[in-house]
Amino acid sequence: MPLSHFVISVIGSLNVDLVTRTARIPTAGETLTAESFDTGFGGKGANQAVACARVSRTQSQARNGESTDVEVRMVGAVGDDQFADDFLKSLQAGGVETSKVQKLPNQKTGVAVILVESQTGENRILLSPGANYNVPVVDLLQRDTTVALFQLEVPIEVALLNMKAARERDIVVILNPAPAIPLPEDAYKGLDHLIVNETEASILSGIENPTSWNDVTSVFINRGVQNVIITLGAEGVYYQTAARHAKSEPAKVLPARKVKVVDTTAAGDTFVGAYAVSVARSNSRTVDASFDIDAAIEYANRAASETVQKVGAQSAIPWVDEVPSS
Ligand code: ATP
Repeated sequence: MPLSHFVISVIGSLNVDLVTRTARIPTAGETLTAESFDTGFGGKGANQAVACARVSRTQSQARNGESTDVEVRMVGAVGDDQFADDFLKSLQAGGVETSKVQKLPNQKTGVAVILVESQTGENRILLSPGANYNVPVVDLLQRDTTVALFQLEVPIEVALLNMKAARERDIVVILNPAPAIPLPEDAYKGLDHLIVNETEASILSGIENPTSWNDVTSVFINRGVQNVIITLGAEGVYYQTAARHAKSEPAKVLPARKVKVVDTTAAGDTFVGAYAVSVARSNSRTVDASFDIDAAIEYANRAASETVQKVGAQSAIPWVDEVPSS
């Protein structure tokens, strides 16, 4: 066991992606022969768990089941079907601990049926949440958790109950509210880290077409969030902390790295996972001597810039030795 040991628990979704590529989407009643079919493992929860695991270990460490300083634990639910076993094996091979993924009887594993029209590049996606929507509304966090990471692809009641439980136990909470489901005001009170993309930032702050990201971060900080991060795709990241806001210091912007972009799928999930690893290693709630938010953002930006240079979701997320060192 390494000297330092931090546990990131990811409470979220697991979905199997069934991806069919076709020259054009069939019309009602029409049958076409597809160009290709692939399966993949996804869901924001699983993607972010994989990101946490990959950016904190090498592929060979994962393959050999070696412990590193960051233990990543997936918390969620799958069905009692064949997808479930394959999914859990894939997570384990990626260095993610799965003993807290419940196999729910008579349930189906979440599935996303994705049609990609190759002529236009457009996607059509039908999501069957299955077991993800049946994660029981109970305390799911183990006491040794350092950081609890949430998205909103599981029932909102599960997220709210466990965010509250985490705070009561001094577990650091990171919330990536995707999809952007409005939350009660008190969900933001004392929230350690909020990571949103542009769309989520606008919907959840209530500011349509914001002209200043500062107005948006101020809304969340005034609701009680300690650290607010807005990812801006190719524009990079905008972030502010409650401590800096209180001293009227301006928010910071970190531009995205200039790279050859191939596919941005899972860029956001990589960013969140890499940021969570830095938070866990600092084992601290706020911007103080031990948590360097600027370094955490910089590391997450570097990791996500690797993901956009590869096709795919989980498979595009870099292992620690693939994240550029500067
Ligand atoms: P997704 O849903 O595709 O995973 P998202 O909308 O949650 O993405 P984005 O804001 O698009 O998240 O991207 C997250 C981060 O990924 C950015 O802040 C940046 O660090 C990196 N990134 C995204 N797009 C690019 C790009 N074109 N070039 C370099 N880095 C990028």
